[in-house]
Amino acid sequence: MPSSSTPTPSPQDLLYEGKAKCIYRTPDPQVYLCRYKDDATAFNAQKRGSIAGKGEVNCTVSSHLFQYLGQQGIRTHFLAQTGPTEMLVRAVTILPLEVVVRNRSAGSLCRRLGLERGLPIDPPVLEFYYKNDALGDPLVTPDHIRLLKLATPEQVEQLGSLALTINRHLQVFWQTCHLELVDFKLEFGLNPDGAILLADEISPDTCRLWDWSGGQASEPQVLDKDLFRFDLGDPVAGYQEVLQRVLQVVAPAKLSQPQVGPMPIH
Ligand code: ADP
Ligand code: MG
Repeated sequence: MPSSSTPTPSPQDLLYEGKAKCIYRTPDPQVYLCRYKDDATAFNAQKRGSIAGKGEVNCTVSSHLFQYLGQQGIRTHFLAQTGPTEMLVRAVTILPLEVVVRNRSAGSLCRRLGLERGLPIDPPVLEFYYKNDALGDPLVTPDHIRLLKLATPEQVEQLGSLALTINRHLQVFWQTCHLELVDFKLEFGLNPDGAILLADEISPDTCRLWDWSGGQASEPQVLDKDLFRFDLGDPVAGYQEVLQRVLQVVAPAKLSQPQVGPMPIH
């Protein structure tokens, strides 16, 4: 599917290989090519494996979500999906922060605070983590961020309000897919003008997505990376299910050219 305008990246163009994606330079210094991998890691890479088809699911889901958020007025790094596992993005300087929004208790929130899993959280909880593998991505407060000069207080304000706005848009989107957005992680970067752009990915790797179709009284069906983390079910099938639901919602936009056309939410 790669278009003729997208050169196949060569190894010497590889800028950075992360746990889930490779970032390549392109002939345009303002543009990177991001290639999504099937590799899966959890618990700060202590658990490693692979989920067949994950790269394609995450690239395609992210492409549609970035376009949807763009239509809602959110500035993102997304330019175009150029292949099943490839997208072109604006090169940004990533702020070394993970911004997390939580609408229901799960994961480390329960571990850290002794909360029962699955409690609704309204208004949502906002958290910042220092993106630093050696330290295990610790939770940081706005004062810690100032102390470490990871971002200015004004940027922290902006990141928080952007994340909460994005939460409202994403809740609507996932609801249309009959999934509840339990929590999610965002990364942001600065463009050469210093403007904040939403970057990285939004996918079942970075969102907790629960299906309540069995009824609120029963256990929700998990359709995200917790399938892999906690061996809750078949991650390959779970990721494909999420992709199918997204494609149904965005049906009129062609998969081969997701950057064009409207993306109505039914
Ligand atoms: P990680 O192992 O840190 O989770 P990933 O494999 O998910 O890394 O992604 C690779 C790297 O690409 C990450 O450090 C991420 O912050 C970075 N990145 C994402 N989008 C952009 C962008 N537009 N410009 C520069 N770097 C980016
Ligand atoms: Mg990542």
